[in-house]
Amino acid sequence: LTPSDPSLRASSRLIEPADQATVRRNNLSLVLRHLRDQGPRSRADIAAETQLNKATVSSLVAELEQRGLVRETGVKHAGSVGRPARILRLDGARVGALGLAINVDYVAVYGTDLSGRVLVERRHAVDALGVPPAQTIATVAGHTRAALADLDRAGVTPAGIGVAIPGLVDVGQGGVVVAPNLGWRDVPIAERLSTAIVAPHVPVQVDNDANLSALAEFWVGGQAGTPNLVYLTGEVGVGSGVIVEGRLLRGAAGFSGEIGHLPVDPGGTRCGCGRTGCWETKVGLAALVGAAAPGDTRSPDGRSLRDLEDRLAEVVRLADGGDQGARDALAGIGRWLGYGAGLLVNLLNPQVIVAGGCFTLLAGHLLPAARLEMDRLAVAGAATGCRIVPSELGFTAAVRGAAGLVVESVLDDPTAVSQVPLLRGYP
Ligand SMILES: [Zn+2]
Repeated sequence: LTPSDPSLRASSRLIEPADQATVRRNNLSLVLRHLRDQGPRSRADIAAETQLNKATVSSLVAELEQRGLVRETGVKHAGSVGRPARILRLDGARVGALGLAINVDYVAVYGTDLSGRVLVERRHAVDALGVPPAQTIATVAGHTRAALADLDRAGVTPAGIGVAIPGLVDVGQGGVVVAPNLGWRDVPIAERLSTAIVAPHVPVQVDNDANLSALAEFWVGGQAGTPNLVYLTGEVGVGSGVIVEGRLLRGAAGFSGEIGHLPVDPGGTRCGCGRTGCWETKVGLAALVGAAAPGDTRSPDGRSLRDLEDRLAEVVRLADGGDQGARDALAGIGRWLGYGAGLLVNLLNPQVIVAGGCFTLLAGHLLPAARLEMDRLAVAGAATGCRIVPSELGFTAAVRGAAGLVVESVLDDPTAVSQVPLLRGYP
């Protein structure tokens, strides 16, 4: 079982021995989630709606107040008789979550408190391919310490750090198995980052960027709450995060969703993974920037990252300005996008496919062709009813998902937050 997956943890409750500490923790979680999902209400309301007895609810609320997760916000007068009921709400203004997304050419940092207030939102340039992993981790650690210091100044204690990685991740161990586009293999990122930021009291969780982006879409994106959803990352690499019936689909070892490396063209271009003709060579960033100069489909490591970003901006400018060559090239990439979407529709029957990252910048040029191709390939045709839409989270989906991972872990186990939050100084 992967401890960071809320849905797995929820199901594991059913088979754990129900000792008192476990029952208490689950009830704290139940009350906290109830306040988050249903909004402010009285102790009596919570007791009636959760089937917990009133004395238990009072005791649970007292503990949640001590941990800084719940506070009283006013009173409700229910008629002319009886005492007015005190209203409780989710607090979390002193408890924070920090998300990091490490990518080929940038690291994104996103810090919030548990009530959703955004305290840190930054993007720093890095060159992950050009330097050894240790150097990238040192750079990321520097940005992390700065963000922790910002949370500290805001009076917020971090409950944890979530890290999004574009590659295969061993969630249980917090390690990167392989991240082709970063050039990383067997990197124990959670342990190394934890050592480098010198904050052993702040747990670090790691997951795949597409998985975290899909969870962000499901939690807070434009398609929030859609139980059958596929997210496509549109970066140098293309991966998918799959939500089935409201739960993240991981597979046996957590490596599902690597749709970017489905072979679609045996005679095609060499991929960052070392194979030839993978789907991401047709629709990834290198293919998109190639739309400005058709025929130029060198892999990303053949050019500088600055060059890639500048050229993507040039493609957007040309296509938006009506350049027919660029528009035709993008329509061709859109058809490849629809080809992959069609495979996903036949395999998973999602309600919506959310195209993220660079795809959002070019959605108007890519998605019309993608929709036609997807519908052509879907065996059930229009009956599948699947939509393909641009993400409203843009390039922030992965880092929001990474922070969301920490928020969810607090909602799952409120006892992870100290009863008397200790603020610490960060250098
Ligand atoms: Zn590949």
